[in-house]
Amino acid sequence: MSLELTDVTLTYPDGDARLTALDRVSLTVPPGGLTAVIGPSGSGKSSLLAVAATLIGPDRGRVVVDGTDTTGLGRAGLTALRRTTIGTVFQQPNLLPALTAAEQLQVMAHLDGRPPRKARPRALELLAAVGLEGLADRRPHQLSGGQRQRINIARALMNAPAVLLVDEPTSALDHERGAAVLALLRTLTREQGTATVLVTHDRTHLDAADEVAEMRDGRLRPLHGARH
Ligand code: ADP
Ligand code: MG
Repeated sequence: MSLELTDVTLTYPDGDARLTALDRVSLTVPPGGLTAVIGPSGSGKSSLLAVAATLIGPDRGRVVVDGTDTTGLGRAGLTALRRTTIGTVFQQPNLLPALTAAEQLQVMAHLDGRPPRKARPRALELLAAVGLEGLADRRPHQLSGGQRQRINIARALMNAPAVLLVDEPTSALDHERGAAVLALLRTLTREQGTATVLVTHDRTHLDAADEVAEMRDGRLRPLHGARH
């Protein structure tokens, strides 16, 4: 249940040249650990998460997810690994408007080849864990932005992932709601034992992290252990 990136370099085509988005990045997150990544816009934070999520293959370097070296995996192997091992929370919750809160989570079980009805108890348990007890049958338009982001987080945990990747989850929330979502991620990371990477531009969130790293021009350097 860990995440290991070693010497990862990622470039994008940029006219006739290549733009280096990640420059020999290494990062290890243990089970139950929360690493926060900060850095200016365009520094490579989302690219780091995309590589960790195995959505983009790096030019060079190794990505090991829950003990599996992803380098040798083909498309089908990567899809299966993502479904069972990696949970992602992006800025926009992207909930399905027609589904209730519980159904948004149950769909994840369906995608994993399990009957969604049997997944309801876990869905209700996770909704309670993110503070949405009693709201399981609401649809997105009946919920606030903060509540929708909590569903997004619960949904990412539905298939019990080893790795949780979170990209600026509080950017659409006010400070107080943002702080509550961060506290929740802290608790869930420990309870569910995920290796969590959190990209944030809000420095007030950093005391929730075990480790803090800063991204600048595609290079990642450790800042400090916030909690020791
Ligand atoms: P951040 O999340 O820190 O804002 P990104 O990882 O999104 O940074 O971007 C890092 C750099 O890579 C930026 O210069 C950005 O313009 C560039 N970039 C990101 N995605 C692509 C892409 N799909 N194609 C080309 N360049 C990209
Ligand atoms: Mg980004």
